[in-house]
Amino acid sequence: MSIEEKWKKFEKHIKVPEVAGRWLNLIYTDDLVITKDFIYPDTNTKLRPGIGKKGVKMPGGPQYIVIHDTGMPAITDDAKGLNKYIHDQANSPDGRVASWHFSIDDKDLFQHVPTDEIAWHAGDGSRKYGEKAYNFKTEKYDIGGGNHNGIGIETCINPTNDYELTLKRTAKLVAMLLYKYNLELDRIKQHYDFSSKNCPNIIRSTKGLWESFLEDCRIQYILMPLGVRVKWEIDKPDIIKPSGKVITPIHDTYVNIKAHVTIDNETRTYEYKTLVKGISDEEKIIKSFYELYLSVIPKRANHDINLPSELTTYKTKLKWKSSHPNIISDAGKYNKPEKPTWIKLTAIIESGEIASEKEFTIKIF
Ligand SMILES: [Zn+2]
Repeated sequence: MSIEEKWKKFEKHIKVPEVAGRWLNLIYTDDLVITKDFIYPDTNTKLRPGIGKKGVKMPGGPQYIVIHDTGMPAITDDAKGLNKYIHDQANSPDGRVASWHFSIDDKDLFQHVPTDEIAWHAGDGSRKYGEKAYNFKTEKYDIGGGNHNGIGIETCINPTNDYELTLKRTAKLVAMLLYKYNLELDRIKQHYDFSSKNCPNIIRSTKGLWESFLEDCRIQYILMPLGVRVKWEIDKPDIIKPSGKVITPIHDTYVNIKAHVTIDNETRTYEYKTLVKGISDEEKIIKSFYELYLSVIPKRANHDINLPSELTTYKTKLKWKSSHPNIISDAGKYNKPEKPTWIKLTAIIESGEIASEKEFTIKIF
């Protein structure tokens, strides 16, 4: 492929849309460093089938890449922690019979079992590749070959990790494995496909995340042979993170993104601009109400009350009405009542085209 064809291919497949969704498919091209630390289960021989340093080869070789997540986000659920866990299990006679090939997080990547050996992670027992089983619980056919022919990847969910970045790195690992074993993109599967277990849990419960991950895998798969390197530069990283995760801002915001792309020692810079939609007018009104309730309007008062005409955080407009204007006027002016009196202040909160009334009860004395 000529150098110009490579650039054309890059331009065709890297897209930053005019309006951002929840994730942008910013390709991850840093090196993946795989730390190979294989388990040698001399005692727990079911964990990695075989004894000592010899496992059991997958019959027919790898056919699937099986994506998992660690489910429970404990602090130890990072790649290092999982590597320690699987070694502890392998070295214990009553260790859990579970094994997988890779554990990956936002910085580390460990390999526990050679990629062409059977491991136990997909919950489909010894069901063969191509063999289906009806699952009465989910009323679908679970496919086979998850354990026997699937390379299991645990994506680590951890409160201190950036899970989107973990998935970006996983997409690169997946593309590498697809090339290594000459597999197509349709061989990327969820644990769920083999045994109906709700795994990978976060991906399955986050609408659109699996599709976004598959798109990352697809872009990796297409661009990997070009040897492309991209350094992303984002002018508002609090709204679009380098991993492509979009954080909804309060107001509609344009974000400028630069891609410094290197192919065959030549670097070019591409510039993109994308609109990130802010929160809705309804949400701005609700949030304005909370701000007023929590930090502006007192619960009791014997003085003037500051009734703002605007909240700068949400750019909402406010109008006020008092139930007892002789005690607290619509402008917040105080007149001492004869006895302590509960009054009602109504705020008309406006954002964009919509307005909503919210009430505050205050004891005036
Ligand atoms: Zn799983």
